[in-house]
Amino acid sequence: MSAISALLARLGLQTSSAFSGAASLEFLAAAGPALSSESPSNGQQLVQLKQASVGDYEALRTGASQCFHELRKVPAPKRGDMVRRLAELLREHKEDLGLCITLEVGKIRSEGLGEVQEMIDICDFAVGLSRQLHGLTIASERTSHRMMEQWHPLGPVGVVTAFNFPMAVWAWNAALATICGNPTIWKPSEHAPLCALAVHALCRQVMREFAMPGLFSLAIGGAEVGKAMAADAAVPLISFTGSVRTGKQVAAVVGGRLGKTILELGGNNAIIVEKSADLDLAVRAITFGAVGTAGQRCTSTRRVFVERGIQEELERRLIKAYGSVRIGDPSEASTLMGPLIHAQAVESFKSAIAQALEQGGSLIAGGKVLEGNFVQPTILRAPRQADFPIAWEETFAPILYLFSVDSLDEAIDANNAVSQGLSSAIFTDSVRSAETFLSAWGSDCGIANVNLGTSGAEIGGAFGGEKDTGGGRESGSDAWKAYMRRQTSTVNFGRDLPLAQGVSFETE
Ligand code: NAD
Repeated sequence: MSAISALLARLGLQTSSAFSGAASLEFLAAAGPALSSESPSNGQQLVQLKQASVGDYEALRTGASQCFHELRKVPAPKRGDMVRRLAELLREHKEDLGLCITLEVGKIRSEGLGEVQEMIDICDFAVGLSRQLHGLTIASERTSHRMMEQWHPLGPVGVVTAFNFPMAVWAWNAALATICGNPTIWKPSEHAPLCALAVHALCRQVMREFAMPGLFSLAIGGAEVGKAMAADAAVPLISFTGSVRTGKQVAAVVGGRLGKTILELGGNNAIIVEKSADLDLAVRAITFGAVGTAGQRCTSTRRVFVERGIQEELERRLIKAYGSVRIGDPSEASTLMGPLIHAQAVESFKSAIAQALEQGGSLIAGGKVLEGNFVQPTILRAPRQADFPIAWEETFAPILYLFSVDSLDEAIDANNAVSQGLSSAIFTDSVRSAETFLSAWGSDCGIANVNLGTSGAEIGGAFGGEKDTGGGRESGSDAWKAYMRRQTSTVNFGRDLPLAQGVSFETE
């Protein structure tokens, strides 16, 4: 038995002899083309399976709709029990799930395990929330009337995810959707089917134990399945995570049928470093933000605006920190940076550096492809951002652009100038600067931090960004409201029926 088959067996999935080293397909709707998942680290084939066709998707959605009719009647705290059970299973299988992430998308071990922990955390959050779903009671202008706001389940939720968070993004959506009374249909990235299979194996166990078929569906497939889901009027909410380009297509299709979307799209995140900043903190945060997950996070740090006068010191310390980054096999404990996801990503890395050099940038660290999908984390000293168009794009790779600025206003303007609006940060010891950065005329991003970096959001806060990042919010705070429908209800407990505008009718 291959190591992958053994891993899947521990999760309750039997491998089939129909495909070499592949997962059993019995539970998968799969009449579509074959799909093979390979490790970005060494090209090893991990899993081979058949994808869902559009017809398979439709069958899954029918099952989800049937489940919805039952689930909406289940009290929310009981739905919380289902999520609690999922969290138990995630805890039990944390090591294996983390390993799947490392093998399939190349995250280092601590990042793979960290992503599983995020799933556990959102489940814990959702279990508590299942006893807290609440609406307002609002003062009525009419005597003996009570007006209130209720939140009801919405219906099946379509979840389309990107390769770089191959498990956690699904969990952020599915945990909240479940306690809100909605089944989910997951279309994972075609670059991460093993991760989706592994998580879904645990979901199957939850569905069995709670006799709730259709609660979690998995449609492994390409863009065709995503498109079918976006166009499906029986799916009232599509939560889409991915690039701005694809997100705009999805938004147009869902908007065309007046469906709801949660859009979590690309970022182009900046850190401002003032002269007063604690450079120890700043250097660690910038390095972690730019190099972590090989620069393949929506919240990766891509731009730094440093106050003129300390740029040389900051460069010197960043170059030193970058020199200590061990690149290699992500499953080894000492590795700090793994590979890019595929050869096309390596091409994007090379092309961005070539463009940056043409546009007046100068290389101060990295810049090279090592072998396969492994690249060096790279820093370029850049001219004014206005004259440096490559910095306006999100290149999904560990490339950092350093700009020198003369004032906080200039830095904030540059932070906000790009079309994306996900995460941002300032390093400063000045209360005035910190508060200005957080003010209504400061950062325009969905996330704005002081003295910590752009990546690594906590479950308790609402996560998402503005402008081209899509405006969606997931995870904590009141993000749950997006998964429910709001109803304003008024009850008359009096003996009169005061009509609006004082209208009266003779009835006897
Ligand atoms: P991508 O846009 O290529 O693919 C995302 C998903 O969309 C995949 O599952 C893909 O199969 C599916 N898809 C493709 N075409 C589709 C269509 N026409 N209709 C419906 N679905 C379709 O993105 P990617 O390369 O997997 O991920 C990287 C991108 O995701 C980056 O831009 C990154 O910033 C972004 N991202 C954003 C967040 C966030 O929370 N804001 C989180 C993670 C990743």
